Amino acid sequence: MSALSPDRSAPKIDTAYRVCPLCEATCGLELTITGGAIRSVRGDREDVFSKGFICPKGVAFDRLDNDPDRLRRPMVREGEQWREVGWDEAFAVVAAGLAGVVAAHGRQAVGLYLGNPNVHTLAGGLYAAGLARALSSPNVFSASTVDQMPKHVSCGLMFGDPLAIPVPDLDRTDFLLLLGANPLESNGSLATAPDWPGRLKALRARGGRLVVVDPRTTRTAAMADTHLAIRPGTDAYLLAALALEILSSGLTDLVSLTDRVSGLDELPGILADFTRDVAAQVCGISASAIAALARDLAAAPTAAVYGRIGTSVTEFGTIASWLVDLLNVLTGNLDRAGGAMFPMAPHRRPGTGSGRGFRMGRWSSRVRRLPEVKGELPAAVMAEEISTPGDGRIRAMITVAGNPVLSTPDGAALDAAMADLEFMVAVDPYLNETTRHAQVILPPPPPSRSAHYDIAFSELAIHNTARFSPPALPLGAGDLDEPTILAQLTLIALGEPDAPARLIDERVIAQTLRRAVQDPRSAVHHRDPAELRGLLTGSSTTEQRLDMVLRLGFYGDGFGASPEGLCLEALIEAPHGIDLGPLQPRIPEVLKTPSGRIELAPPEIRQDLERLRTGIDARRDGLVLIGRRHLRSNNSWMHNLTVLNSGSNTCTLQVHPDTAAEIGLADGADARVASRSGQVTVPVEVTNRIRPGVVSLPHGWGHSLAGTRSAVAAARPGVNTNLLTDPMALDPLSGTSVLNGIPVTVKPAPA
Ligand code: SF4
Repeated sequence: MSALSPDRSAPKIDTAYRVCPLCEATCGLELTITGGAIRSVRGDREDVFSKGFICPKGVAFDRLDNDPDRLRRPMVREGEQWREVGWDEAFAVVAAGLAGVVAAHGRQAVGLYLGNPNVHTLAGGLYAAGLARALSSPNVFSASTVDQMPKHVSCGLMFGDPLAIPVPDLDRTDFLLLLGANPLESNGSLATAPDWPGRLKALRARGGRLVVVDPRTTRTAAMADTHLAIRPGTDAYLLAALALEILSSGLTDLVSLTDRVSGLDELPGILADFTRDVAAQVCGISASAIAALARDLAAAPTAAVYGRIGTSVTEFGTIASWLVDLLNVLTGNLDRAGGAMFPMAPHRRPGTGSGRGFRMGRWSSRVRRLPEVKGELPAAVMAEEISTPGDGRIRAMITVAGNPVLSTPDGAALDAAMADLEFMVAVDPYLNETTRHAQVILPPPPPSRSAHYDIAFSELAIHNTARFSPPALPLGAGDLDEPTILAQLTLIALGEPDAPARLIDERVIAQTLRRAVQDPRSAVHHRDPAELRGLLTGSSTTEQRLDMVLRLGFYGDGFGASPEGLCLEALIEAPHGIDLGPLQPRIPEVLKTPSGRIELAPPEIRQDLERLRTGIDARRDGLVLIGRRHLRSNNSWMHNLTVLNSGSNTCTLQVHPDTAAEIGLADGADARVASRSGQVTVPVEVTNRIRPGVVSLPHGWGHSLAGTRSAVAAARPGVNTNLLTDPMALDPLSGTSVLNGIPVTVKPAPA
């Protein structure tokens, strides 16, 4: 067995190491390759982060190469027929289509949707933002407003940087309070950690404690010391009561953060209404359990509070996200070992500790006037922005690695709206429920044929590492790598369709180096940018860009100033990655608030708390719908692999036996589920692993629409839970739709 040679053309490769891009855990994979194909996949036991861990999706890594339905050539649609074309012809059709729409209706008439897989690829990490800027349209959307924007907003308001997201220091904490997360199925989200099962077992083995708050007895909840089966959508009340308990019981201990916070004195007043008794009534958890949890959290030597999708996708998602980190601050656990800490990604440079803060609402959506956040509008307004007549209407869409017809709210409305677009181009390997509306599909090669470095997830990792994976296999004949596809689209958006794709990289490199040499804090201050450009290595300008940011980064070699530091060549020579050590306290340089302090009571949150107060008296006696994850699913896009779309990975409606008996539902029989937005018919799964009064559907299903090309998914289609999502029900600060706690009625389906 030999490691993959840096020479990509070398034919005698038998083992390659590749970071898995199929979820946020970023496990190292060991691929055995013979005859130009991957023969087996297993966890890389020497990977510095994952140490051999792998899940069923990772084992199926090679199946993406072999899926007969995966598109291998650009496709142009003529009426209902698709025709394979060459890349030049495909880009020419795209350039003409977009130029026509822009000429007739202006730049705002072109919308962009960036799907979740963008953050799992080097291409998405390096080119998607540039594509959005090049379009210069207000109508940019992404999967972030489907599930995680509340965290960006709360971190933006508290720390001044929406990307400064603290993660639980899993390997050192003594107490983990986990809300709305099921990492034993999801493998983690906004907290990158290969092998959550092993890390949670290790926490308990060293005497630590795991508390899980979830309406379902998930696999994660089942291994907890304490499981609190909360009423869906009420996490903000529980978290507020915990904060108030700590504040009013004299349990607050900021430890080293005392001089780093602002707004502490305001907290008892603004949280006064959210007592443990109120929370008990709203959340369905006893007041004594809430008080005990507050005491235990405060008393733990170290503790981390971690809230994820279940807390985010509620009407109070941003408040809940704020409260998670407020608890980390009040217990002195923010930015200390064993608490919630800020990763230091290898491609990042440390900040200065102050800044201009975080602004949102710089523009609004045309129809509903919902504010922009982080340069994006809520995905929930995409359908109305396409279908509502008037100036500024979206007439063309670019989708990149997304299937929003299945994955965003009110999928039926979006499906109908997309059918009316004047032009659409999709970068996607599948002809799926969304891309079937495109005139052109540009398929990237499978992950095995792409270089990889985790831009997004090294910023969220619970341990600092640096890993680079060269392509395990060469591009096939007729393939175009994803960086080139996205760079070419960017040039089209800029009105330079005939320019070479590498021009995008050259511009970024030139601008970055010019700024670096002018920065007195930089290791390359006063050096010659042209000389630095000549020092960059990599087999493409994409890799040279990566080399540049690594060398300028916190651990970088500074272009020779620190010879032992990181550069791309060093990573290529370390196929199992480089361990950069446990997370370190770094709050002084993380903060970008104007005050240079952690804002504990931002005005936007204070104002929104009025909604939380009003919600205390809301009726909560009806049935509500929540989502769920399965280890072998990741949204919609791997449902065409037989090995994953099988067994217990089923689209069923989970119902508690008491609820089933009340409604007259039988296990295995069909139920009709209806919300304000739509209805679905789905088989019932009666289980006591869910709270009475709550039903659960997984998301990403609904592969029954005509005109797709995914035989496996279509044979086992499931139903689209987003037919039930109400596009009007949002967390107003973040624009994130309510997916957790959708009011529904459920009845036996008519025979
Ligand atoms: S846990 Fe995630 S990263 Fe690891 S093998 Fe599975 S899909 Fe890949």
